Amino acid sequence: MIRKKVLVTGGAGFVGSHLCERLLNEGNEVYCLDNFFTGQKQNVVHLLDNPYFELIRHDVTTPFFIEADEIYNLACPASPVHYQYNPIKTMKTSVMGAINMLGLAKRIHAKILQASTSEVYGNPLVHPQKEEYWGNVNPIGERSCYDEGKRAAETLFVDYHKENKVDVKIIRIFNTYGPRMHPDDGRVVSNFIVQALQNQDITVYGKGDQTRSFQFVDDLVEAMIRMMGSRDGFIGPVNTGNPHEFTILQLAQKVIELTGSKSKIIYKDLPSDDPMMRKPDITLAKKELDWSPKIELEEGLLRTIEFFKSTI
Ligand code: NAD
Ligand code: UDP
Repeated sequence: MIRKKVLVTGGAGFVGSHLCERLLNEGNEVYCLDNFFTGQKQNVVHLLDNPYFELIRHDVTTPFFIEADEIYNLACPASPVHYQYNPIKTMKTSVMGAINMLGLAKRIHAKILQASTSEVYGNPLVHPQKEEYWGNVNPIGERSCYDEGKRAAETLFVDYHKENKVDVKIIRIFNTYGPRMHPDDGRVVSNFIVQALQNQDITVYGKGDQTRSFQFVDDLVEAMIRMMGSRDGFIGPVNTGNPHEFTILQLAQKVIELTGSKSKIIYKDLPSDDPMMRKPDITLAKKELDWSPKIELEEGLLRTIEFFKSTI
């Protein structure tokens, strides 16, 4: 067995902690780098006894040096509430973080994967979204710091590949949920479950007729590992998400049903630039990665509800 040295930025976050766990289980040495803005030590505390796991407090907006074979670049707040808290910092994290990590990858000849997002498609005019679609993105709105930061990071990844032959991989992640989301994360699945378990009102923004397609975190981690191991020269971008599409109102009703909650649904203003629909076309991931999601919404929600029952 080859023990790879793998750096995971944003490793103490929701997705990063699952990825670190999986990489360790496969026998790798994992360096988990995080500034703990939205991540927490608690997400990885169970890994600290493993001698092949190292937790490093660092901010990706400043350079970082280490020897590694692979880098997964996840550092960036992902929930609208958190990425809008300090939009300049969010943009810096995406852009300067990408430059610093790509510079490191170039210097140490590591393969590097970027956690990009379905937000690069903005409020899409094409449905479902294929990788060839360039998107419909507002450059000066509430979401721009995240959307445009992630778009610029994709540009940097592709240009480092073209100019400096860095071995890059880009995945575009669609809405992902699961255990270890922070109860105050602010994204829809965790909000609804936390509200339902406490019999509080379920806050649907707008009429709830906007759609999202929800991917369980284990399916995402599988796609990330497969993308890192994909054939030479395949850099993506490739969509990873679950193509089963639901309205936000349907999600609220499902969460109430599965938790047996007494919560009522209430309606709040729709935030500006909130995409009306989102659903991945995963043809490319099926072809290149032989990947498709395995965990459907009900099963994933039940597992996530169990997690929140034990934490709140
Ligand atoms: P998260 O907020 O739980 O994790 C992000 C992690 O990055 C946190 O641990 C945070 O502390 C860390 N971080 C933020 N800024 C940093 C900085 N400047 N330096 C070092 N660390 C920093 O969110 P997540 O859902 O786990 O998202 C992980 C990645 O996947 C993000 O890049 C996000 O944009 C991307 N993504 C996630 C989703 C999703 O639905 N979960 C969808 C699309 C893209
Ligand atoms: N949303 C909602 N209630 C909440 C949180 C979110 O109705 O308490 C809506 C939000 O307006 C959006 C969808 O759910 O239409 C998904 O929001 P989230 O923040 O999870 O992710 P994103 O908008 O980035 O896809």
